[in-house]
Amino acid sequence: MQNEEQIWRLVDAKKTDYIALSDRIFGMPETLYNEFASVAEHVAVLKTEGFRVTEGICGMPTAVMGEAGSEGPVIAILGEFDALPQLSQAPGIAEPSPIEAGGNGHGCGHNLLGAASLLAATAVKDWLSENGIVARVRYYGCPAEEGGAAKAYMARDGLFDDVDAAISWHPSTFNAVQHGHSLANSRIDFTFHGKAAHAAAAPQLGRSALDACELMNIGVNYMREHMPDSARVHYAYLDAGGVAPNVVQAKATVRQLVRADDMATLRDLVERVRSIGNGAAMMTGTTVETKVYSGVSNLVGNLPLEETMQREFDKLGPVPFDDDDNGLANEIRKTLTKDDIAASFQRVGLETPEDLALCNFVAPLDRVNSGGEGSTDVGDVSWVVPTVQARVATCAVGTPFHTWQTVAQGKAPAAHKGMVHAAKVMAATASSLIQSPETLKAARAVHEERQIKTPYQCPIPAEVSPPIIIKSK
Ligand SMILES: [Zn+2]
Repeated sequence: MQNEEQIWRLVDAKKTDYIALSDRIFGMPETLYNEFASVAEHVAVLKTEGFRVTEGICGMPTAVMGEAGSEGPVIAILGEFDALPQLSQAPGIAEPSPIEAGGNGHGCGHNLLGAASLLAATAVKDWLSENGIVARVRYYGCPAEEGGAAKAYMARDGLFDDVDAAISWHPSTFNAVQHGHSLANSRIDFTFHGKAAHAAAAPQLGRSALDACELMNIGVNYMREHMPDSARVHYAYLDAGGVAPNVVQAKATVRQLVRADDMATLRDLVERVRSIGNGAAMMTGTTVETKVYSGVSNLVGNLPLEETMQREFDKLGPVPFDDDDNGLANEIRKTLTKDDIAASFQRVGLETPEDLALCNFVAPLDRVNSGGEGSTDVGDVSWVVPTVQARVATCAVGTPFHTWQTVAQGKAPAAHKGMVHAAKVMAATASSLIQSPETLKAARAVHEERQIKTPYQCPIPAEVSPPIIIKSK
């Protein structure tokens, strides 16, 4: 039996339990360092499978690491299980239908992400013991990917330092090995302090923190013309100073989210945004205090690992969807615009095929990416250890992520097939790397060459701790 056939069989042998795990996580959507029930599910599976389990890694109560094997190369498989706020949605229905008004929902498919990564780690563990191969496989259960940058803290604090290669995946509308590109970002809270006063009787005595926030946003708006095309700045008011227009607002906070192609450009933009904040304070007679909330590095590639994963993906082919899967996918597509669908394919540099409900190919590695990019905290992992990720089709072509449409498809048979497929791609890549020390060496060489030119600098300052705020139920 070929190596990959053995590992696919090991994935298939346990897939039912992991599909059930994904569905349970779907049913308990938790966000931003509050993933207590979800991580407990992952811990229970790790223990049942006989991994050595360390809970609460990196000072994060909802992070976990499980390891199997005691010597040899270390392969890390990264999983996530956090949801998004305001995206509650009943599964299997092609119209907006929240299960709980205003509730959380798995709008980025991380229920699938974590379960497939854990399934891959389990299959690698089983493959090591079936063949008597000496190596270590680790599952990192990482919380708070959405806005909490957990992996950036984990990278900063050295949790991947002895890892030889890190492997992950993300649910997607297409099948491809992820290219090494995403935007670095930094979230900074600007809190202005002014002076309250009666807005009619004594406005001359007031200094408005809200005015300062507004002027800061105007300043950032003028900057937008003069920054690189791919850079982004978004903002949200965390505190607009209260609800009384007749009180001069003494305190107000605006969060600025700055994104750029690389860390040098990001640092430059962040300095400019900080200067604008200082300028707004000067203009309004207020003072400003800033706090870095979180940040992530841009993703960097590793060709030896990408070529290995592409080979394994090509052997496996696209996700084996059937006519039944097309049913829901076609219903979802009716809720999307042509532009949604085209944008999804532009991101992998491909023309949108007509009337294709679910992706039926594996994109080549030498495709040209175009179109918009987001950020991921896997970026920081890629700066400290050679990293590779797959994108695996789990939903209809064109489905935009972070929407009710993603949640609606999160428990569908197509999603289950995609997650099992992702586990096979990752486990086969891991086993191939374990058997090829020269590939791991080449991956390390690419990584070290980059470090010499551009040493890793975590966007989160050393003194900043993860933004863990435990919500009471
Ligand atoms: Zn995601």
